[in-house]
Amino acid sequence: PPVAIVCIGMAGSGKTTFMQRLVSHLYTHPDPTNDTPSVSQTPSATPYILNLDPAVHHVPFTPNIDIRDSVNYKEVMKQFNLGPNGGILTSLNLFSTKIDQVIALLEKRTKPAPPAPVPEPSTVDFMTGKGKAAQPAAAQQVKHILIDTPGQIEVFVWSASGEILLSSLASTFPTVIAYIIDTPRTTSTSTFMSNMLYACSILYKTKLPMILVFNKTDAQDASFAKEWMTDFEAFQDALRNEEEGGGFGGEGSAIGGGSGYMGSLLNSMSLVLDEFYKHLSVVGVSAMTGEGMGEFFKGVEEKRQEFERDYKPELERRK
Ligand code: GDP
Ligand code: MG
Repeated sequence: PPVAIVCIGMAGSGKTTFMQRLVSHLYTHPDPTNDTPSVSQTPSATPYILNLDPAVHHVPFTPNIDIRDSVNYKEVMKQFNLGPNGGILTSLNLFSTKIDQVIALLEKRTKPAPPAPVPEPSTVDFMTGKGKAAQPAAAQQVKHILIDTPGQIEVFVWSASGEILLSSLASTFPTVIAYIIDTPRTTSTSTFMSNMLYACSILYKTKLPMILVFNKTDAQDASFAKEWMTDFEAFQDALRNEEEGGGFGGEGSAIGGGSGYMGSLLNSMSLVLDEFYKHLSVVGVSAMTGEGMGEFFKGVEEKRQEFERDYKPELERRK
């Protein structure tokens, strides 16, 4: 069966750009775990794409299923008298009532392709059942289902509908979370730690295998992050250095580096997180240039196997 990759991350971390890169990488790399593009014109397998962000203006790829075809976010806001967050949440709720149809469609579309491909609608409106924008069927088997989520991370991760969408998906396909991180904005020990804690809470909430994707390596190399995650001493050194540099509030400040309340908190937390890090795949990528995509797909394969081995029996048990 194909593997579902769910892109989750803070607004601006690069989810949509990363999605676009996933698509183009799959189109140009018959073996996506290998960074060398192919000269042949046949892609490895066409991915199946879902957009779950009702509020996005422009999507730089063509989703096969688009929440915007089913629910009109602006209209939802108006009708229910909601603000932007309420509008996104309500749109997601409306869409999640159709999840059975979505999963059925996914199952149908990701089966091994028939010998002669026939043209068919690329997107289906679940309210009307009508399709639009006809495009040829994928000639090859779908190996990847790619899912973009709303910019407001908490709306997806902490809502009932987000949970319904994720658990329906995971009970049908091996499902992997790609947690996208804005690397240039994570270089200080405290922002790094907050981001890791957030990722940890998502891992705990979704109970799905996770890949940490340090994005934008063209602007900021991710080796510091990998080092902090594997070498506790290196992280402590960084804490100490930030402290010497005065940190946030200068010497003796509570918000500084290694000393004071914040420093000792960060210190203890990094010990706890050490356990969390052991369960993750970590990759540095640039959604902009495509750097690191081969490594990402190696991580996906690793996590897919982990899903089959550890997560699936647990899901079966919980049913
Ligand atoms: P989303 O809100 O998580 O979907 O983030 P977007 O994909 O819309 O990207 C947010 C901003 O980050 C945009 O201005 C992108 O051009 C930029 N961005 C995304 N990926 C990269 C990258 O790999 N490198 C750089 N330098 N910028 C990026
Ligand atoms: Mg986006």
